[in-house]
Amino acid sequence: MHCSELRWHEPPGQALRALPLLTLYLSERCNSRCISCDWWRSGQRDFSVQMLERQLPALRRLGTEVVMLSGGEPLLHPEWMHIATLLRRHGIRPWLLSSGLAVAKHAAEIAHLFDSVTVSLDAADAARYARIRGVDGFEAVCRGVSAMAELGRPVSVRTTVQSANYRELPQIARLARLLGAASISFLAADVGAGSAFGRHGEASPEIALGHEDLPVLEAVLEELAEFEADGFVLESRAKLQRLAAYFRALLGEGEFPPVRCNAPEFSAVMEADGALRPCFFIPGSQLGVEEPLDERLNSVQQTSLRADIRAGQRPECRTCVCSMWRENARF
Ligand code: SF4
Ligand code: SF4
Repeated sequence: MHCSELRWHEPPGQALRALPLLTLYLSERCNSRCISCDWWRSGQRDFSVQMLERQLPALRRLGTEVVMLSGGEPLLHPEWMHIATLLRRHGIRPWLLSSGLAVAKHAAEIAHLFDSVTVSLDAADAARYARIRGVDGFEAVCRGVSAMAELGRPVSVRTTVQSANYRELPQIARLARLLGAASISFLAADVGAGSAFGRHGEASPEIALGHEDLPVLEAVLEELAEFEADGFVLESRAKLQRLAAYFRALLGEGEFPPVRCNAPEFSAVMEADGALRPCFFIPGSQLGVEEPLDERLNSVQQTSLRADIRAGQRPECRTCVCSMWRENARF
């Protein structure tokens, strides 16, 4: 049995011995200006290569298969190539999660170093892209997706659904396919007051949908059925309808869709300063950043955080836009 199949259904209080997936915030800095995120306002730190080197033995003990390089914008880290190379050398597959602005520029290196690439594309035209992302980057992102496809490393596109783009989800999916993307996934914009996306307060209220938008969104989601046959849209029709339920609940018109998530049992998030989170949305601790990751994961603080999550005691879970359940966490 591979170590990643071990013990992530452990009862509360038991140790976590395998971590198939680690997300690293390589840089808090970002060259986009998304209305749904605050990293670009306050992010300053980059993850240190030395910190990664110190954690490599722990990643081996934990059987880590994939490290997702995220942020902020990971390609702003001056040593992203070195970090990806280091991971590969240690048998870990790096996965790039990028705004896509610099993907065309570094296409050859990215195709060589990364097994998986996910790029954000929130609009089907330049003007709307600029409105949502705050920068004139539509053409650059499209070039990046195409360049990767031409190099035989098709990109997965990720679209954050919000008031400015919910009407054009099918157009975005068609564009992604035209550019050579391998798939597209849709995620509701997180409008909570939590600590994800570098936030220190409420998200901008303009990203949420209004009452009058909901029937339109429901119809638009049905239109995505045209992508069902070949699975280009990664979410099932039922999962897509959760997007409408989420925005409806934000308006007080129903319950938030039920959440089933075991992400903290097979993955963790390490921030640019070394702080460890059980997932994107729940803060963890900065304590013991020098400590090996397997010891930190099994500290009293992290163990009891996971126990609270399992017991449904974390408020972040009730409104989560990105819950994840995996029976067999292999990557
Ligand atoms: S959502 Fe991503 S690309 Fe946009 S500002 Fe935040 S970190 Fe940057
Ligand atoms: S449901 Fe969301 S907030 Fe809760 S553990 Fe899963 S990813 Fe984190």
